[in-house]
Amino acid sequence: MKEKYICPKCRNSVNIGNRIILTGKTRTGLRGMIMIEGELGNYNSSFSDDFTIIEGNRVKFICPICHSSLSSWKRKNLAHLIMVENEDTEAHIYFSQIYGEKCAYKVIGKELIGSFGEHKDLYKPDWLVENL
Ligand SMILES: [Zn+2]
Repeated sequence: MKEKYICPKCRNSVNIGNRIILTGKTRTGLRGMIMIEGELGNYNSSFSDDFTIIEGNRVKFICPICHSSLSSWKRKNLAHLIMVENEDTEAHIYFSQIYGEKCAYKVIGKELIGSFGEHKDLYKPDWLVENL
């Protein structure tokens, strides 16, 4: 994978190969590790042992390095990471923190470059531009 995913706060990379490793926290305070695919539109995910997520529940994604929340301030259901492509182009990636919601958005500058997943219509792109 040429892309690298970095935390918007500490700017350390959070991917190992083409998988992204994040810390997750549920509303009930359960914590664990989550592994998601770096390929946009691929929603396979794995969880650490005993980190049981029920479909429809929100998992707050946290940077495993600096422990900052990755929740988007405008849409708390979405997490935000920066994807660095070819060493210089930075895209903002937003993806749902609701387990089972398959949607991700790629924004460069103030432009929505792509929406991915069967639930991509859940979050209308107007907020994306306001968020930057
Ligand atoms: Zn961080």
